Amino acid sequence: MAPSPFLDPGPTSTSNTLALLHLKRDLLVPTVLSSAPPTSADDYAEGKVTNTRFGSFPHSTLLNQPWGTQILASKVDTGSRGSKTKKRKRDGGDTPRCIEEDGEEFKGGKNQTAVTARSGFVHLIPPTPEAWTLSLPHRTQVVYTPDYSYILQRLRARPGDCIIEAGAGSGSFTHAAARAVFNGYPDEEPSISTIEPAQNGTTAPTPKRKKRYGKVYSYEFHAPRAQQLASELRGHGLASIVRVTNRDVYNDGFCLPPLQTSSFSTEAPSTLTPQADCIFLDLPAPWLALKHLTRSALSPSTLHSLSSPSTPSPNPTSNLTTQTPPTPSTFQSPLNPAQPTRLCTFSPCIEQVQRTISTLRHLSWHEIDMVEILHKRLDVRRERVGLAEEGLRGANASAATVEEAVHRLREVDGRAKLFHELQMEAKGEDVEEKEGGEGKKEEGSLRGKSKFKVEAEAARLSKQRRLESIKAKAEERPLFKEGRLLHRTEPELKTHTSYLVFAVLPRAWTKEDEERCQKTWGRGV
Ligand code: SAM
Repeated sequence: MAPSPFLDPGPTSTSNTLALLHLKRDLLVPTVLSSAPPTSADDYAEGKVTNTRFGSFPHSTLLNQPWGTQILASKVDTGSRGSKTKKRKRDGGDTPRCIEEDGEEFKGGKNQTAVTARSGFVHLIPPTPEAWTLSLPHRTQVVYTPDYSYILQRLRARPGDCIIEAGAGSGSFTHAAARAVFNGYPDEEPSISTIEPAQNGTTAPTPKRKKRYGKVYSYEFHAPRAQQLASELRGHGLASIVRVTNRDVYNDGFCLPPLQTSSFSTEAPSTLTPQADCIFLDLPAPWLALKHLTRSALSPSTLHSLSSPSTPSPNPTSNLTTQTPPTPSTFQSPLNPAQPTRLCTFSPCIEQVQRTISTLRHLSWHEIDMVEILHKRLDVRRERVGLAEEGLRGANASAATVEEAVHRLREVDGRAKLFHELQMEAKGEDVEEKEGGEGKKEEGSLRGKSKFKVEAEAARLSKQRRLESIKAKAEERPLFKEGRLLHRTEPELKTHTSYLVFAVLPRAWTKEDEERCQKTWGRGV
């Protein structure tokens, strides 16, 4: 199986894998790189081209590049096929021909290039869950990086864990969860053997122990959304780590039928429960799903006291797994009995939180608490800022730093002094000239000459000094340190996303656990 570019991108970009074109902060364009030559008269001569507002990028310029490389836009030959160029695509589209950007259109035409103006560059970066969150096609509201990084940390999601996620929506959380639990692809060597010292001092192999692969069980009520996510995950090389199920989890819960599709064939057919260690519910009514997240079947009276679901079941689709709801007699817990289960729900309203917490208490969940992530970005950058912004006025308003302002003040001071001296000198000359008996007629013109001389000399000296100072500064300061280091917080908080409710369900206490405990600690403990 080819490694997922999200988990193992390798050192350079390769054909048929997802790459992201980083146009600017928060603007990334995803594209599947292709080395295929043009196949029809409608294609560019260069093969596949990604058009962006910063220019056109033939994939030949993007392939086999070390990740992070800056790629310059190319002039793309649209040849004489321009008259047929009626296709349009928004920023980042892969359709050849013309570009629509901010309502502006670059039409192809004979001897025209697709982009004649505004050509620039992009940085080629490998896909990551964070970058995907910023560039994915939105089908729903998504969970953003500040929330999901905190959630996965609080859920203690580790490589080898199994996570239940519902609803899957646009798959933003799904990608981050897949990376968190990844510890190998399930069709790798299916078992591991460990060598331990045997009793008699020799080493003997212990029986082969089956490796538990990290897995995300993702449930989505909306069939087309579930289909699209399943297809994206296949394209991203994550199909063996994430299993997407088209399911109404309020009614049908989380246990699964054996897999029939070939892409999941490595999973044992007897697997009916996800054996989840962590659960993330991004649903309109998470409390309705909680009755399925128990370690044993609930009594009819408990079931009755919980809210009953009202949403209809979705239509089953061909390539997604579907199941009829389990009856109490066939109850199977979707949770890993050997571990405490950690849960997080993501709800925008406090009323939803109240209902969720009430149900969690009812079902004996522990350590219930609620968190709201109020994420505020700190922008750190170097900037040449006018001191006018800081309330300084006059000649110094455009100075970049305090030192520069002081320097300018001194310079102005010095110039004034010099001007004054030269003026005095000139006056002296005038007086001498006057005393020398020159006629009154010439006095005015001489004074004019002296004034001109004074100003010119002052300007020359000032310019020379300034040049010398700039030169000296440039020599001692590297270019990247130009300007002042500033940090600014975002002017206001991004709007409220959601309240996160966390809870823990203790692990199942078995007969064997009790016996072991009695043996170790005696009765009454
Ligand atoms: N967490 C997702 C992400 O990061 O992209 C976004 C989830 S979106 C806000 C909520 C999703 O829950 C919707 O796609 C909706 O179809 C799905 N949903 C709603 N009720 C459901 C149910 N009973 N069972 C499964 N999915 C459901």
